[in-house]
Order: sequence, then structure tokens, then C-alpha cells
Amino acid sequence: MSVIAVFNQKGGVGKTTTALNLAAALNARGREALVIDLDPQAQLSTITGNQVDDGEATVLSLFQQNRHLAQLQRSAKNGLSVIPAHIELSKVDTLYGKGYNVVNRLNASLHAENLRDPRRPVLLDCSPLIGVLSLNAIFACDGVIVPISADHLSAKGAMQIEKTLNALEKVVKHKIARRYLMTRFDGRRNMAWDVLELVKTRFGADVCEIKIGENVSLAESPAYNKTVFEHAPNSRGAKDYAALLDELLHAAFIA
Ligand code: ADP
Ligand code: MG
Repeated sequence: MSVIAVFNQKGGVGKTTTALNLAAALNARGREALVIDLDPQAQLSTITGNQVDDGEATVLSLFQQNRHLAQLQRSAKNGLSVIPAHIELSKVDTLYGKGYNVVNRLNASLHAENLRDPRRPVLLDCSPLIGVLSLNAIFACDGVIVPISADHLSAKGAMQIEKTLNALEKVVKHKIARRYLMTRFDGRRNMAWDVLELVKTRFGADVCEIKIGENVSLAESPAYNKTVFEHAPNSRGAKDYAALLDELLHAAFIA
């Protein structure tokens, strides 16, 4: 599978951390990856040195000016290719509503520009809101990774997503593969194990074997505008994301 959305309807669960560091893990293996920032908060854009000024081209230009994705992507210093977001993206819902053509915009562009290429996976960093942007991600993707920080609210977010994805499968007319990923896992806390059990009972084999542990290098690296592989390549966080990539490649969840 070549297009992967990272989505949970709850904020702060590790979506951006996962999209960024999975792309960086691919990069560390000599694989190219394109990351598309679909969150108006544009944190991934900032971390990768792609903060854009007002009026500059962003993923919004896809909707506003029918620009080609190939023209919007930038080479980030981290060796990643990024299509940046901007706070203006928050206007998308008001401007363009929810017509089928609008929610299929990203999917159509990825097809038209031959960007659905297994040699170069595309990771979509979603905002927590179900709106035009997240629907575009779900319509465009082959699979969804749902990060669940080991707390009850983010597990609840995952259960909501399951319903949303099941409903959307009827619209897109194909199965949307998913992997639930425990993040910020601190094995010293009972709650973390409780949530893991809950998630495993509900989602079974769709839960990743690898858990991303709570790790200070993962928390620090955005402050240095770095991926964890640049900031602390020997950290637990870097090892966890490298192991996650192995698992997803092995399961052919990522091509
Ligand atoms: P989201 O994109 O879902 O809103 P983020 O990826 O931005 O979530 O993560 C929220 C915060 O938690 C960020 O400050 C991030 O650095 C931190 N964080 C994410 N994963 C971990 C982890 N495994 N260990 C420690 N901090 C983490
Ligand atoms: Mg985010």
C-alpha cells in the first residue's frame, strides 16, 4: 500500500509524531517518502522547516487553484519531501463544503500525477477534525494508522473512527485497512495496560505489535525542528519507530 493516512479524532495522540517519524524511518533506509500536512496547525510543516508565509503555496492551493501536488512539494532539510499546510487551511470547510468532488480532490490528484507509487509511500498527517481535509485523506488512502496515546479518551477517539471508517467504506466501495498503534505507552502505569487490553479486545489483529513508548527524545525533537532520527538516533523513540516501520513493511501495510 502506498498512501497511508494517520488519523484519530482526538488531538495530541501522536499523529504528527507518527507521520513524521515513519517518513524519517523510511528515509533512514534509503527510501523516499512524501508527507502531506493536512492539519491547519501546520506543526509537521514547521518541524520540517517548511513554515510558509501568508499567500505562499500550500496544500490549500490544490483546492483553491487546482495546483499540481508535484508543484507544491518541497524538499525539507530532513531529506523528506513535504507539502506544507498553513493556518488558512482551516477555511477549506467553509469555502468548499463537502461535495463528493471536493472530498475526492486529493485522491484524484494522486492518481492523475502518478503519485500512488509503492516505491515512494505518501503519509498524510491529519487534523483531529472530520471535515474536508480528513475526508480527503480517507478517500485517498489505502490504509489508516490510528495512533492511540495510552489513555481512555484517545481509545474512545479510535472507536469513533472505526464507525466513521465503516460508514465511509460504503461510499468509497473498498475496504479501508487500518492499524491501531499504541503511543506514549508507559508500562509503569496501570492505565496504559488497561487501555491496551481494551483496544486489543476491540480491534484484535488490527493492533500493531509494536508499541511506541513514552520517550523524552520524541517529546524534545520537535523543539529542535528535527525528526527523532536526527535528534537522537539511538533513543528508544527512534528504535520504536524503526521497529514499527519493520512491522508495517513485513505486513505489507506499507509497500
Ligand atoms: P497529534 O498530532 O495527534 O496532535 P503529536 O504528534 O503532535 O500529536 O503529539 C502531541 C505531543 O506529544 C507532542 O508534544 C509530541 O512531541 C508528544 N509526543 C508524541 N509521542 C510521544 C512519545 N511517544 N513520547 C513522548 N512524547 C510524545
Ligand atoms: Mg498533529
